[in-house]
Amino acid sequence: MSVYVVGHSSPDTDSVAGAIAFAHYLKATGTEAIPTVQSDKLNPESKLVLEKFGLSQPELLNDAAGKDLALVDFSDIAQAPANIKDANVVAIVDHHKIGDITTNSPIFFYAKPVGCACTVLNEMYKNSKIDLPKNIAGAMLCAILSDTVNFKSPTCTDEDKAAVEDLKVTSGISDTDGVFMEMLKAKSSIAGVPIKDLIFRDYKDFDMGGKKIGICQLELATLDQVASIRAELIQGLEAVKAEGRHSLIMMLTDVVKEGSDLLVLSDEPAIIEKAFNGKISNKSMWIDGMMSRKKQTIPPLLRAFGA
Ligand code: MG
Ligand code: MG
Ligand code: MG
Repeated sequence: MSVYVVGHSSPDTDSVAGAIAFAHYLKATGTEAIPTVQSDKLNPESKLVLEKFGLSQPELLNDAAGKDLALVDFSDIAQAPANIKDANVVAIVDHHKIGDITTNSPIFFYAKPVGCACTVLNEMYKNSKIDLPKNIAGAMLCAILSDTVNFKSPTCTDEDKAAVEDLKVTSGISDTDGVFMEMLKAKSSIAGVPIKDLIFRDYKDFDMGGKKIGICQLELATLDQVASIRAELIQGLEAVKAEGRHSLIMMLTDVVKEGSDLLVLSDEPAIIEKAFNGKISNKSMWIDGMMSRKKQTIPPLLRAFGA
């Protein structure tokens, strides 16, 4: 039976490149593996990366029942394919807090507190002396630039920088700033994109003390890019929140100014204000220096919700 390698829902470049890289790794070690994604609507950045390196889009997987799964870039049930409880998780490679997925048998579990799952995968390739194809190396390099916001995110570590140096050699890419700008242009393009697609472009649900909290992020070269659609965004967020969420936060991250404008909809806005030590006005709150959902948004929220 093949192992299906899958990243989180609302796939990002790390989830897509990571699934491809981990599936290739498993195959090289003698395990039949298929890279997959939880949505066939990839974000514009991930599409660009696949095209750039001539990689085909991983096949769609949205029902995990009865399958052998390898997870990459997540271990939360809320971000897993449907029926994850009826699946057999055989491996996890990640760089997030440990989630709530558990297994009946011992598994391969490799996680490190680095900026990107592809950094962990690069280390696995090196340790096992498995040849990394040039095009997969290119996609992994892009994933690291994306997850670390070109090394500016507080999640970025020396290991991520060293992995990029390795991957530059393997992929033949020298101008990483140029590649990052190309990706930023793609990922922040909003012209003609339906509001719902912007909200779910990089979206994650979390369970915080029994409450369902959604957090999405839009990385922008400048907040001006969304100035004219702000009201529509808030309306769209209201609709998503109404599907049974306690809170919904959209991080509008200004990659140049290095901070995020949080759009906040919540049954208890005071908890969110307390989490970030700020004041919400007109459903929004600017947090200087906030770039990373994983490191700067989720931990204070978990504390504030007593989770
Ligand atoms: Mg990810
Ligand atoms: Mg990641
Ligand atoms: Mg991300």
